Amino acid sequence: RAKSGGRGRSMLFTADQEERLVERRRLEEDLHQAVQGRQMVLAYQPKFRLRDGGLDGVEALLRWQHPERGWIPPGLFIPVAEETGLIHKLTRFVLEEACRQALRWRAEGLEVPVAVNLSAAEFGAGQGTRLVQEALEATGGDPRLLEVEVTEGVFLRKAERAAAEVAALRRLGVRVALDDFGTGYSSLGYLQHLPFDVIKVDRQFVDRIEEAGPSLHIVDAVIRLAHGLSAKVVAEGVERRGQLQALAELGCDQAQGFLLSRPLAAEALPALIARRRPGQDVTKLEAA
Ligand code: C2E
Ligand code: MG
Ligand code: MG
Ligand code: MG
Repeated sequence: RAKSGGRGRSMLFTADQEERLVERRRLEEDLHQAVQGRQMVLAYQPKFRLRDGGLDGVEALLRWQHPERGWIPPGLFIPVAEETGLIHKLTRFVLEEACRQALRWRAEGLEVPVAVNLSAAEFGAGQGTRLVQEALEATGGDPRLLEVEVTEGVFLRKAERAAAEVAALRRLGVRVALDDFGTGYSSLGYLQHLPFDVIKVDRQFVDRIEEAGPSLHIVDAVIRLAHGLSAKVVAEGVERRGQLQALAELGCDQAQGFLLSRPLAAEALPALIARRRPGQDVTKLEAA
C-alpha cells in the first residue's frame, strides 16, 4: 500500500489516486514499447494561404496507435514522455520521419514544408537544435522543407537561452514558428530578440473572432505586430466559415483547422492538392 509522508504526516493514497498512479505507470511502460515498435505515426494537418487558397505546408502531429487501447492523443502521452526523458526519442522519430516525408513528396513533384513541434523540455539548452541537425544529417533532409514550432511558454522561464536557440535553429536554415501565441503568460519583451518566421495565433482567440469583441481586437493586433516583425501569421483551429472571412479581412496569412482539413495520412495529401484550384475564393474553400 502506497504511503507518502507530507509535512510529518503519513497519508494513505485514496483509491482514486492509486488508480491514477497505476494507470500512469502502465502508460510509461507502454510508451517505452511504443517508441521501439511501430506504434507511432504522423498525421499531417495542412495550412492554407488566405490570399489564394494555396497549400502552404503541413504540421506533423504525433499519433500513438496502442495495440489494445487504440489511438491515444498526444495531450495524454507527451507530458509522460517529457517527464521520463522519452521525449527525445519521440522527437528524433518525428523529425526524421518529417524530413523523409518531405523528400518523398518532393520526389512526387510536391514542395510541402513540414512543421514539427518541439517540446518545451528540449528547448533552451541546445538540445532541440542538436536533434534537428542530426535528423537533417541522418535523412539528407532539406532544411528549407523543415519548420520547427516552439510553444510560447518556454520564453517565460528561460528567455535568454531560448532566444539563442531560436537563432541557432535559423542558422541551420529551418524556419521557426511561435506556437500557441497569447497563451504563455510571457511578456512581449522577448519578441525584441527573437526573429520568428511565423507566429501561430492560438485557437482560443480564433474561436471567438466572429463576435466583434475582445478576441477580434487581439487577433487584429497580433497580425499587425507579427507583420511589423516580418513574421507570417497562422490562425489555428478554424472551424467555421465566418472565422475564415474575419481572418481574411484582417490580413491573416494562413489558416489551419478542421473546417479546411483534419490531420491526414501522408498518402492523402497529393489528392487534396490536386483538388485545389489556385486563386479560388478562400472563404468558399471546401473542407478536405
Ligand atoms: P498544437 O501544436 O497547438 O497542435 C494543434 C492541435 O489542435 C492538434 O491536436 C490538432 O489536431 C488540433 N486542431 C487542429 N485544428 C483544429 C480545429 O479546428 N479544432 C480543434 N478543436 N482542434 C484542432 P493534437 O494533434 O491532439 O495535438 C495536441 C498538442 O500535442 C499539439 O498542439 C502539440 O503541442 C502536441 N504535439 C502533437 N504532436 C507532437 C509532437 O510530435 N511533439 C511534441 N513535442 N508535441 C506534439
Ligand atoms: Mg503546433
Ligand atoms: Mg498550435
Ligand atoms: Mg495549440
